[in-house]
Amino acid sequence: MSRHLFDEEHEIFRDSVRAFMKKEIQPNSDRWHEEGIVDREAFLKAGKQGLLLMWADEKYGGAGVPDFRYEQVLIEENARFGDAGFFMTLHNRLVGPYIGELGTEQQKARWLPKCISGEHILAVAITEPGAGSDVAGIRTRAEDKGDHFLLNGSKTYTSNGINADLVIVVAKTNPESRHGLSLFVVDRGMEGFERGRNLKKMGLKSQDTAELFFNNVKLPKENLLGELHRGFYHLMHFLAEERLLGAVGYLAAADAAFDITMGYIQERKAFGQAIAEFQNTRFKMADMRTEIDVAQAFVDQCVLEHNRGELSADNAAKAKLFTSELEGRVMDDCVQLHGGAGYMDEYPISRMYLNARVSRIYAGSSEVMREIIARSVGLDPRKKKAQPPSASSRSAA
Ligand SMILES: Cc1cc2nc3c(=O)[nH]c(=O)nc-3n(C[C@H](O)[C@H](O)[C@H](O)COP(=O)(O)OP(=O)(O)OC[C@H]3O[C@@H](n4cnc5c(N)ncnc54)[C@H](O)[C@@H]3O)c2cc1C
Repeated sequence: MSRHLFDEEHEIFRDSVRAFMKKEIQPNSDRWHEEGIVDREAFLKAGKQGLLLMWADEKYGGAGVPDFRYEQVLIEENARFGDAGFFMTLHNRLVGPYIGELGTEQQKARWLPKCISGEHILAVAITEPGAGSDVAGIRTRAEDKGDHFLLNGSKTYTSNGINADLVIVVAKTNPESRHGLSLFVVDRGMEGFERGRNLKKMGLKSQDTAELFFNNVKLPKENLLGELHRGFYHLMHFLAEERLLGAVGYLAAADAAFDITMGYIQERKAFGQAIAEFQNTRFKMADMRTEIDVAQAFVDQCVLEHNRGELSADNAAKAKLFTSELEGRVMDDCVQLHGGAGYMDEYPISRMYLNARVSRIYAGSSEVMREIIARSVGLDPRKKKAQPPSASSRSAA
């Protein structure tokens, strides 16, 4: 189905991104998969190409282009020709905007230029061993000591966790309040900041997902990002975009899997005919194509709404829920149509299947998405109990 949201400039940009992915990212994919981490140079190269934090003002080295469609192109091309573990988008649009929107002029001048050049890699650390969906339940503590904050606690499942130079850490600053959280920027090399294991995962093997530890880290006051005790609300503010980023990627992965499978079923033969000729195969492919196209129309609409500043939390949740569930179904059917080959690591569909499993869990699980959507249609048990409204579940990537 033809898409109507891109202009000629986006298509020209797409061509250049595709060439970048094919030249600089894809050839490293197998090695990164084995090593469990993406080369830092990948970010430097993306920076050199002008692909990082494109929304940032030119005075910091950005392109000053907030149009989300450029990020959409980056995500789509990375899904098809790059590497699923190359979390450039996490750096660009999931973490970078915390600095861009919440940072003071001084903080932006201090941090943005190196994020744009790729010298500094970004991560966000919300999840802890004891709290994931329930953000308000985190226990990492930052105590105000007058001229600095003292940070203690630990985080887990932090994407880009090993490579990151700047980590936005969510910590409790007001223990009296469930939502008394604040955001801090923790620099690589700060005393008391240590990295734990690069966690072994089912999929996304090339992505460094790590544990982080903070033992009496002395944080200068200038490292507080946004308002003190308002961290929870700051996090909620960025969730619609985070979910849309996810949706774009899950759908792009599903679409790529469809095309890979289309190639395979035409080549592979059984009982004297191509697998593609069986009615079951044709119907499966028809169902997948239908669902991907219908979902794409919704996601593209969400992108345009987001560009206008009108994307609602529930529509972003619908996009995230539907595309992540669809991606799971598509990957499963595509593996099935590959037969035994689909189970072999050397066939791309095998890795894509494993990578896709997390889409229903991170960036807010499917269950959390259903909660948000149910509330938006008026089914909110909290209101029945006459409790003050809060959006206490999320989550980050
Ligand atoms: C590969 C990977 C990368 C990640 N990257 C990051 C990162 O960069 N930064 C970061 O901070 N975090 C990151 N995470 C963490 C991720 O956001 C959390 O895993 C996710 O929010 C779920 O939290 P949890 O693991 O604690 O599960 P839990 O919250 O313990 O959930 C367990 C189950 O209970 C369900 N559940 C929870 N609450 C409800 C509810 N209210 N109603 C119904 N069901 C519910 C969940 O849906 C899930 O099925 C990452 C995770 C993974 C796997």
